[in-house]
Amino acid sequence: MFCPICGKESKGICKECYLKRNPTGIKNFKLTICKKCGKIFPEIGEEEENLKRIVLKNIFHGEMVKINDLKIDYSKDEKSEKFMNMKVVLFCEYRDEKFENEQDIIVKVINTPCKTCSRKSGHYCEVVLQLRGDREKIKETFNKIAQNFVSDVDELKEGLDVYLISRDYGTSSTKQFADDGAELKFTSKLWGMKDGQRIYRGYILVRFSDIKVNDMVKYRDKIYKVLKTGKFLIGENEAGKKKQFRMKNCEKI
Ligand SMILES: [Zn+2]
Ligand SMILES: [Zn+2]
Repeated sequence: MFCPICGKESKGICKECYLKRNPTGIKNFKLTICKKCGKIFPEIGEEEENLKRIVLKNIFHGEMVKINDLKIDYSKDEKSEKFMNMKVVLFCEYRDEKFENEQDIIVKVINTPCKTCSRKSGHYCEVVLQLRGDREKIKETFNKIAQNFVSDVDELKEGLDVYLISRDYGTSSTKQFADDGAELKFTSKLWGMKDGQRIYRGYILVRFSDIKVNDMVKYRDKIYKVLKTGKFLIGENEAGKKKQFRMKNCEKI
């Protein structure tokens, strides 16, 4: 069989002739990006996957061509510029014949701050985590907080005030503090008015105990040596008898 167009040996129209008549390429498109954190909109899934999906939507090709996959190379620094240069490799297939199509494209970038960044820059705060007590625990805990939820931090003599942009994030993180044996206290204060509505700011006081394994503690007038710390502490008395009680109910001696 020969290609009816060029006469080359081929089953039907050969790849070259088909592609000449039905080019594969990428349409012009724009990308909406948060200049601050580089997030690409709309935010669905991982960034690379997100970008792939957007590029994929803008590919044109002939009916007989299948796009199996694509690879995108770009410089992250260009995200904050007005235009972004991308190299896109399309992995295509035409009648069981695989081929690659490489394109250099220039994409217009539209900068829009994402919700997180615009809240952060406005020092937005829904809840304040007040970390108190054991210094080491405070430091450890602060390092575990997802920084994109933090709009401000105040270092105080008695601990750390962490301003969080999401009340949900704040409350969901407290379970782990309680499991660690911290004492929690929830309050809220009237913060201001917005559109005729009262705005409350939540405060979560987290007091970490400085009780450690091998410390001596007093619980209901009896002395125990600490074997395990946490929400429930396990202590051992002089006679070697073990007892479990809430860590917040005992005191270090
Ligand atoms: Zn041909
Ligand atoms: Zn952002």
